[in-house]
Amino acid sequence: MTPARSPRSAGPGSSVLAVDVGGTDLKVAELGRDGRLGSITRTPTPLSDTRPGEAVVEAIAALAAGHGVDALGVTVPGLVDEAAGVGIRSTNLGWRDVPFRRLLFEATGLPTAIAHDVRAAGEAEYRIGAARGFTDVAVVTIGTGIAASLRLNGRPYSGRGAAGELGHTVVDPDGPTCRCGNRGCLEAIASAGAIVRRYRERGGTADGAAEVLVRVKQGDAAAVATWQEALSALVTGLSVLSSLVAPEAIVVGGGLSEAGDDLLGPLGQRLREARGTGHVPVLARAQLGQDAGTWGAAFAARDLLTARTNHD
Ligand SMILES: [Zn+2]
Repeated sequence: MTPARSPRSAGPGSSVLAVDVGGTDLKVAELGRDGRLGSITRTPTPLSDTRPGEAVVEAIAALAAGHGVDALGVTVPGLVDEAAGVGIRSTNLGWRDVPFRRLLFEATGLPTAIAHDVRAAGEAEYRIGAARGFTDVAVVTIGTGIAASLRLNGRPYSGRGAAGELGHTVVDPDGPTCRCGNRGCLEAIASAGAIVRRYRERGGTADGAAEVLVRVKQGDAAAVATWQEALSALVTGLSVLSSLVAPEAIVVGGGLSEAGDDLLGPLGQRLREARGTGHVPVLARAQLGQDAGTWGAAFAARDLLTARTNHD
C-alpha cells in the first residue's frame, strides 16, 4: 500500500509530454523522470472544417518543440484504434481516420502513443486514483458526454474500441433526441450539458450544471425536476452496468462529479434501492478530477517506451 501523498507520482521512469485533446482545449503537461506531472497548461483546440486532424497535429507539434522528452502521449476523443494510433471518428472535432501516431512522429520525431480519452482517464484512476486496487471496475465520466472505462479481470476492456458507450444507453425511448440521432440516451438527459439545457427548457437560467445544483438546494422547482430526472436516468444506466458486469466499484468522474456528495449520496442510495437483491457496486468519486486525461496520456507514453524496451 502506498500512503496518500501530494503531489501524486507515477513513479520514476522516462520523461514524456502528455497531451489531452478535448473539444474545447488541449491540456498539456510534462511528466518528469521522477514521475511528477508538471503544471497543466491549456490552449484552445484548433478547429478546422477541412483538416481538423492535421490542425491538432500541428498544434501539438508546436507545443512539443523545446521539450526534451523521451516520448509523446496523446489522448483523443471519439472512436479510436489505439493499437494503430488512428483517430477513427470524432463527431465533436469532425475528423475521420486520422493516423495521429504517424503524423505526430513525423512532426516531432518522438515515439507517440495514442489513447482514447475516456479509457486513458480510467486507466489513470486505476493506477493512481480511486479505482486502484479493484479487479473489476468501471470509471464513468459524466461531463459533456457520458462514457465508461472498463477494467475486467484486472485488464482494460475496450471492445475493439467500441465498448463503454454508456451514455448512449437508451433510458427513455420517448426522451430527448441525442446527438447520436437516437432518442432518450442517458447523456441526452444526464450529462452536464443536458442538465443545463433541460433546465433552460423549463424556463431557468444557468451557465453550468453546478449552478443548476445550487438552484436545487434553493428549492427551485424547475431545477429539482431536471436534477431528479438526471438522477433517475443515471440510476438506470448504472443499474444496467451493474447487472451486466457486476463491477466491484463504479468510480464517477468528469465535470458533474465535482458535485461530490450532492451527486454520489442520492445516486448511491437510489442505486441500492433499484438493485434490490442484485449486486450493488461500491460508488466512489474519481480522485484525479480534470487532470485524469492528462495523466492517462502520460501513462500511455510511458507504457509505449516500456513495451519497446521489453521487445529490444
Ligand atoms: Zn445517444
